[in-house]
Amino acid sequence: MTTTWKDDAGRDLVRSFGERMALFTRGEGAYLWDDKGRRYLDFLAGIAVNSLGHAHPVFVEAVAAQAATLAHVSNYFATEPQLALASRLKRLAGTGPSGRVYFGNSGAEANEAAFKLARLHGGADRPRILSLRDAFHGRTMGTLALTGKPWMQEPFLPMAGGVEFIDSTIEALEAAIDDRVAALFVEPVKGEAGVVELPEGFLRAARELTEQHGVLLIIDEIQTGAGRTGEWFAFQHDGITPDAITVAKGIGGGFPIGALITFGAASELFYPGTHGSTFGGNALGTAVAGAVLAEIERADLVANAAERGEQLRAAIEAIGSPLVSGCRGKGLLVGVGLRHPVAKAVVAAAQEHGLIINAPNDETIRLVPALTIGDVEIDEFVQLFAASLETVAHALVLEDEPAQAGAEVRA
Ligand SMILES: *Cc1c(COP(=O)(O)O)cnc(C)c1O
Repeated sequence: MTTTWKDDAGRDLVRSFGERMALFTRGEGAYLWDDKGRRYLDFLAGIAVNSLGHAHPVFVEAVAAQAATLAHVSNYFATEPQLALASRLKRLAGTGPSGRVYFGNSGAEANEAAFKLARLHGGADRPRILSLRDAFHGRTMGTLALTGKPWMQEPFLPMAGGVEFIDSTIEALEAAIDDRVAALFVEPVKGEAGVVELPEGFLRAARELTEQHGVLLIIDEIQTGAGRTGEWFAFQHDGITPDAITVAKGIGGGFPIGALITFGAASELFYPGTHGSTFGGNALGTAVAGAVLAEIERADLVANAAERGEQLRAAIEAIGSPLVSGCRGKGLLVGVGLRHPVAKAVVAAAQEHGLIINAPNDETIRLVPALTIGDVEIDEFVQLFAASLETVAHALVLEDEPAQAGAEVRA
């Protein structure tokens, strides 16, 4: 009796993820191939991770060259790629000379460091930490405590103390921020919540109020960073300077790496012995991230993200599907709102049509393709996405009473 990869996955892998949707064996640019040799257009890019697409020569060369030179020495020592990446991240984030970088291996680790930064700043006088309802900051115990989704926290209570959740409104900021608050955590576009943007002026108000009250403003750029939204970091759309940002996902282009970048006085909070990581910032990871960011700069992919994002939104609106209510997000972080809770069905239909996309909730499709995409990929996307929407709209009409459901779907 032969077993399939699905049997193996079902037996051997942790059950905290749903059933794996495909077994991929190869990638190139914006395309993936499965074990049957079938090709897919990838508009998920490993959840905003593969900034340069799959198997980009710059990525491949950086991994190979650094692995053949020096991969890891521990944080008792410095390496050239680590210093170069710290300096590059400071420049791109605009910290000026007083900025500092802590390296970890994931988004959650970057936010864990930020949580500790908040505690160091707060001490006994500032026990409160504010975070936004519905924002996502990670799955470790610390970052879960910062994540404003009660259903995610519930099986793991009690959480780390002191975190309070507020609505993403300027009024809520005004009501909550006082001199007892250590830090405000902000996800500038809520990716996991369905690509939900903050209200106009929110970040500027947050900066003003946090500054008035001596509160750290910590911006989670893990999904929005590395050029994804059409600026290097999303906070740069608003012209503010935060106290710290966290980055991961797109920075490494597929290599696991995360970082906390601090600005000004916040850079002096950590002192020897207060935080660390064995793997964090090793030569291999930092060399790859350095090469990925250098290529994003060289090829001007931040501008491409802005431009292609506009193009993609316009193309989706132009499909004119009765299922689509509209597009959200910035640059190549795109949320497609649906009029019916059929996002999972659209994802499944898309896979059938040879397109990989994702549904952060029942009424949103999230598109986070490689920053390298151009006309060819967008044209193909539109064709496949339109067909997928059509498949689902058709099934909806068939499912319900024909006359009534048909009218609803067409409305
Ligand atoms: C993905 C994500 C995280 C967690 O990153 P991991 O690498 O999965 O630990 C945290 N915050 C935001 C905004 C994210 O999108």
